[in-house]
Amino acid sequence: MARILVVEDNPGNLKLAMFILESAGHEVVGAEDAATALAIAAESVPDLILMDIQMPGMDGYQALSSLRALEATKSVPVIATTAHAMKGDPEKIQAAGFDDYICKPFRYKDFLSAVASLVEAGERSRDGR
Ligand code: MN
Repeated sequence: MARILVVEDNPGNLKLAMFILESAGHEVVGAEDAATALAIAAESVPDLILMDIQMPGMDGYQALSSLRALEATKSVPVIATTAHAMKGDPEKIQAAGFDDYICKPFRYKDFLSAVASLVEAGERSRDGR
């Protein structure tokens, strides 16, 4: 069980992502824009963040830079979520410093396995294993 922050401007996608994660036993907080997400993350640092790339205003790349610039949130794993992986996107996402990425529409199995592997990696690094 992890504390996960989901950042997603599409209410339907946000609801679905939160439902899938809650069903898997995680504690989930949602934010519909990057500014709200940054405020939540600074206030209470999550174990994992799912970050939409395409959002009005501050996009996922800018939000990731802000998270990485803060001591409290710089090492929180962040998974990018993207509606359509275009050619070159996976490389761009990786170069930006995201830990992984998931394509929308969300598929339960892929979605939960990406989340589980980063949650486990986080637990291992916290335990010093
Ligand atoms: Mn979006």
